[in-house]
Amino acid sequence: MKLLRYGAPGQEKPGLLDGEGRIRDLSAHVGDLAGRWLTPDGLAEIAAIDVAALPVVEGPVRYGPCVAGTGKFICIGLNYSDHAAETGAAVPPEPVIFMKATSAIVGPDDDIEIPRGSTKTDWEVELGVVIGKTAKYVSEAEALDHVAGYCVINDVSERAFQIERAGQWTKGKSCDTFGPTGPWLVTRDEVADPQNLAMWLEVNGHRYQNGSTKTMVYGIAHVVSYLSQFMSLHPGDIISTGTPPGVGLGQKPPVFLKPGDRIRLGIEGLGEQSQHVR
Ligand code: ZN
Repeated sequence: MKLLRYGAPGQEKPGLLDGEGRIRDLSAHVGDLAGRWLTPDGLAEIAAIDVAALPVVEGPVRYGPCVAGTGKFICIGLNYSDHAAETGAAVPPEPVIFMKATSAIVGPDDDIEIPRGSTKTDWEVELGVVIGKTAKYVSEAEALDHVAGYCVINDVSERAFQIERAGQWTKGKSCDTFGPTGPWLVTRDEVADPQNLAMWLEVNGHRYQNGSTKTMVYGIAHVVSYLSQFMSLHPGDIISTGTPPGVGLGQKPPVFLKPGDRIRLGIEGLGEQSQHVR
């Protein structure tokens, strides 16, 4: 299933994309795409609904973030060997973890706001993993059973805040609008091999990132198992699994976002995002 949330910010309703690409309203059946609706039982309940009987949502709609109730937004740093190389960093011996504030989460096509004082706002197309079942001390073999599905994420980053200011990375990753999420939560059963998905990102029509999840250093099962050794993961938590090469910081000379830019990004089978920078 391709599950989604649509409507004005803060007033999104749950929906799904039908076989013809139309949005169907789920709000008579589902409270929101959060908590128990993301669990195996919740997703099975949604899958049992007769799609043809659901109301079609007409007209252009705003997509909201594809999940709600996200308690933690965890990111993995330097998780593509070729991206680590372009930033001049070594591939880390264990996954690098940092947090993005959940207040950064926005819809996939919402504007990206360059934060006050920023000179180095940058992009990162990433595979998002949405947790569907509480995970605590899970093995790698069990890890994917705890995943509800996948989505596209732009891990927007302010490099000066991230790297040049004191401390670690969180303040360069957490600004408002720095977490476009969606358009869809594609359930795990629809993604045959999440470690073999093409991914790309363009700014003003120029393709900067062109990669694949197959060059991830620490794969999804490893990352879910690894994180669960340090914290429990809950339904609705999001893990952003790192970016392939081609970020602005890696260009020679570096390229950063400016007002008026248009970003487009996507991952094979998971849909596309489009953001206007202001
Ligand atoms: Zn990232």
